[in-house]
Amino acid sequence: MDEIISLIKNKDPEQREFHQAVEEVIASVKPVLERNPEYRQHAVLARVTEPERVLMFRVPWMDDDGQVHVNRGFRVEMNSALGPYKGGLRFHPSVNLGIIKFLAFEQVFKNSLTTLAMGGGKGGSDFNPKGKSDDEVMRFCQSFMAELYRHIGPNTDVPAGDIGVGAREIGFLFGMYKKLRNEFTGVLTGKSLDWGGSLIRLEATGYGTVYFAAEMLATKGETLEGKRCLVSGSGNVAQFLTEKVLDLGGKVLTLSDSSGYIYDDEGIDRDKLAYVQHLKNIMRSRISEYTAKYPNAVYTPVDPLLDHNPLWAHKADCAFPCATQNEINAQDGQNLVNNGVGLVSEGANMPSVPDAVDLFVEHRLLYAPGKAANAGGVAVSGLEMAQNSMRLSWPREEVDERLKHIMKSIHRTCVDAGEMYNVQGNYVAGANIAGFVKVVNAMLDQGLV
Ligand code: NDP
Repeated sequence: MDEIISLIKNKDPEQREFHQAVEEVIASVKPVLERNPEYRQHAVLARVTEPERVLMFRVPWMDDDGQVHVNRGFRVEMNSALGPYKGGLRFHPSVNLGIIKFLAFEQVFKNSLTTLAMGGGKGGSDFNPKGKSDDEVMRFCQSFMAELYRHIGPNTDVPAGDIGVGAREIGFLFGMYKKLRNEFTGVLTGKSLDWGGSLIRLEATGYGTVYFAAEMLATKGETLEGKRCLVSGSGNVAQFLTEKVLDLGGKVLTLSDSSGYIYDDEGIDRDKLAYVQHLKNIMRSRISEYTAKYPNAVYTPVDPLLDHNPLWAHKADCAFPCATQNEINAQDGQNLVNNGVGLVSEGANMPSVPDAVDLFVEHRLLYAPGKAANAGGVAVSGLEMAQNSMRLSWPREEVDERLKHIMKSIHRTCVDAGEMYNVQGNYVAGANIAGFVKVVNAMLDQGLV
């Protein structure tokens, strides 16, 4: 195992997020490898950590003033043992190959946990949609798809949204794919409801993260009723997570963006949430504007150079990180533990650094890693693919019931895997083991390809 980790680090020394994701999975699956010597003979670790295919391409586009820009596009097709590659596209200036590889790697095990037939992939670009006009975003998406379309398809690779890729971007990407291929197929998920999208897809990641939290609380005979919750982010995941916490009787105290966060001691109720949705989705403005309408709330700008994020230093019962990777550092983790937070359920992918994760496990918090807790999004994407193939759309209640059932079964799978390998109550180990075993067994069944 050490050999594999140093090999990966030597090969691509700058891909720190990818190393972090691999190290976590490898540490968890140690007992599995010890019990199954054939995995070593078949070099499953070396195979599962190497993408099946990496695509990297130029994306030229023109702004409204006629100036040409060039961004870099990525698609990492990580593993197709369980089905077509499936995973979102991220448009954010921080995107690079290491980030896309870490996301694709996590996606493989997450998709495995959903029990749906989906392999894992991820893609994106260092393009920043913030501050761009709709026309500029459209020209960028068209240029991005002018290359990507050769590599994807409803039975090959089915991208979706992620940070910076919402309904607007999916629409432009789909339109270009349709024009180039001259076919209307379910090649992307997260589509608008009027032309092939699934009900509940928009809500699924946030709702699913709360359903998972409710399952963890139920193991202690508790519910979300009356619980004070810290939430980061104010995008797709954070918004619908807030809605579901409210449905289940909890109180959301915070929301954030990359500039800072708001703290509302009275709680963010449905009217306030509707205002946040208007601010972020329609006006595309900053969370700081919340306090202009609700002056009892406090806005705090966050300096990324500070040794901790004050959002995580408030007294609360539950924490739901829903912004980005490594947003909870070791100090933030310590602050959460010190302030009595008993549950952390990750809406974002890998938002807690390894030292923070160790603290959560050591202090026996109910801690759900993103690959289990936020799998509801991709699960409903899988349901969107199923509905597209049948040319049907299921009613909202049916999709929500299926989502609940999937989150319940992911929870059960993590608990069972933990028990089988004597790491009871450790959802990180449980999720990694269950996700890993299914993928590598499928790889072994399919031979050395
Ligand atoms: P959105 O683009 O809708 O929202 C992202 C939110 O996070 C925004 O509030 C954004 O603030 C904030 N954010 C982004 N980058 C940073 C940063 N570097 N520091 C602080 N805040 C940041 O994305 P989603 O809500 O879709 O995604 C959020 C997380 O959930 C990501 O980790 C994503 O991978 C994960 N996820 C999403 C799924 C989905 O279905 N959408 C599925 C599974 C996981 P600002 O506006 O200032 O950029």
